[in-house]
Amino acid sequence: MSGHTLPKPFVERVRRLLSPDDFARWERGLECPPLSVRWTGPREDVERGRAYLSSMEFEPAPVPWMPEAWSVGRCTRRRLSEVPWVTQQRLFMQSLSSMAAVMAMDIQPGHDVLDLCAAPGAKTSLIHRLQRGKGMLIANELSRARTTRLNAVLDRLECEGVEVMTGAGERLGGTHAACFDRVLADVPCSGEARFHLSNPSTWKRWSVSSITGLAKRQGALLESACRCARPGGEVLYATCTMAPEENELVVDRVLARSSVPMELLPISLPLPNRRTPVTAWDGAMAVQDLAHCARLVSDETMTPFFMARLRRTG
Ligand code: SAM
Repeated sequence: MSGHTLPKPFVERVRRLLSPDDFARWERGLECPPLSVRWTGPREDVERGRAYLSSMEFEPAPVPWMPEAWSVGRCTRRRLSEVPWVTQQRLFMQSLSSMAAVMAMDIQPGHDVLDLCAAPGAKTSLIHRLQRGKGMLIANELSRARTTRLNAVLDRLECEGVEVMTGAGERLGGTHAACFDRVLADVPCSGEARFHLSNPSTWKRWSVSSITGLAKRQGALLESACRCARPGGEVLYATCTMAPEENELVVDRVLARSSVPMELLPISLPLPNRRTPVTAWDGAMAVQDLAHCARLVSDETMTPFFMARLRRTG
């Protein structure tokens, strides 16, 4: 066990958000998060990925909604990252939550797609694969340093034809209004799902006041994403945090106030770790029907996550 402890106010918030069983599962996951990999080689060779993992003495478990990925359990990060096909990224380490966000976008070949907050590019590369070489893909990122990482990932995974931009995603609602069939807003967040007991730097910036600041930025990014979608197009809003201020309450505000009309759509992935959205929190009450939002809790395969799928109706 690590000797570190998470901030008490944070743990108390999580206790209020989760049932006792989900809280116990979340605590167990803090030491060793679950790992998963995605096949990046030719589609027809996907079975080779599974066979390879087995030959390396992992126990790859299939993922019902993601035919090119496997769960590989916990506490194997070091060993997994040193396996040749993982080093070469023929098998790409990516969390199942991250893959679920892209699969919930229902991307079809020929769709024009914007990834508003794209670095380091795990989701962009999966979007590219689902587009099968048809349709435009723009990957935007605020930070120059992170854009360099994004370019490196896209190069390594041979994602050709992606247009990479560096700048504030908030501006694209003006410059790229109504240009896309799908927009991913995988916004910067407090990252509560990625706090690891062995690494205090993962939570050193956590505070309720930083959550309030992030929620404002997230609202502006989601509003911009909505404006970038074509009428009939969709926006997928995602965070890797549990804080309702950054999740349901952002979606609620944007649905109520967006300058373009939006509605929530169902997310139909079979996810047994999905829980009811939080619609009342610390005196704030959602006014929209948020039943379609997907709040995911820790289980043996996934870390906590939040996503909402919105459609522009006009
Ligand atoms: N989608 C990425 C992936 O799957 O690899 C992860 C994105 S991460 C959650 C959020 C990213 O948004 C960070 O790289 C951060 O630098 C970037 N970011 C922060 N503020 C932004 C803004 N105003 N506009 C665009 N990107 C921003």
